[in-house]
Amino acid sequence: MIVILLGSPGSGKGTQSQSLAQKYGFKHLATGDIFRAEIKSQTSIGVKAQDYLKSGKLVPDSIVIEMVAGKIETGGKYLLDGFPRTLEQAQGLDSMLKRIGSSIDLIVFLTLPKEEAIRRMASRRTCAGCGEVYNVISRPPKAAGVCDKCSGQVVQREDDSEATSAKRLMVFEDLTHPLVAYYKSEATFHEVDASPTPEKVEAALSAVIESVKAAR
Ligand code: AMP
Repeated sequence: MIVILLGSPGSGKGTQSQSLAQKYGFKHLATGDIFRAEIKSQTSIGVKAQDYLKSGKLVPDSIVIEMVAGKIETGGKYLLDGFPRTLEQAQGLDSMLKRIGSSIDLIVFLTLPKEEAIRRMASRRTCAGCGEVYNVISRPPKAAGVCDKCSGQVVQREDDSEATSAKRLMVFEDLTHPLVAYYKSEATFHEVDASPTPEKVEAALSAVIESVKAAR
């Protein structure tokens, strides 16, 4: 089963993917997390990607498509978080799935007003060690600045700064939002309102996943 979570930065894709992956046994494929890990280890992909992440721009399609192609295997259950992000990536995904005899089972677009996305990014904090996501208002770590899971340092992601998050939202509107039109006519396309609490959004997403599972 292949599920795509589409949505602007700050719409909760990462948080929702983590819990849905655990609940349904999906492999969580988050291109942003993969890039951050590659940058941390200064691999060749990491070195190529780092300036793009820092400035809130998208990493070039060819790099992203090649990286994802190496991670999707026939028959696997994947939750794609943050990929595809451009039309070229969506077409690249279509061809890579065709090659392995697979197809997309569900595409969910998490909708959220821009102002709320900005507010959420401003209050988001992330563990520099394991990537666990916190929120200074709604979900702070138990001890300030220390990750509950790995005791790593909880910090603000450099690209969650006010200027860079505004830039990332513009990039989303220009390059990623057109994917809604690309996928909208598919029976597999659904929209879920990302404004309520994470628990409510998770319930709505679970209901959609259950309906797709029941129809298979
Ligand atoms: P995210 O963690 O999904 O917000 O992604 C953080 C950053 O990683 C983005 O601002 C981009 O620089 C880069 N990135 C993640 N996924 C992609 C993708 N599919 N295409 C291009 N760049 C990406």
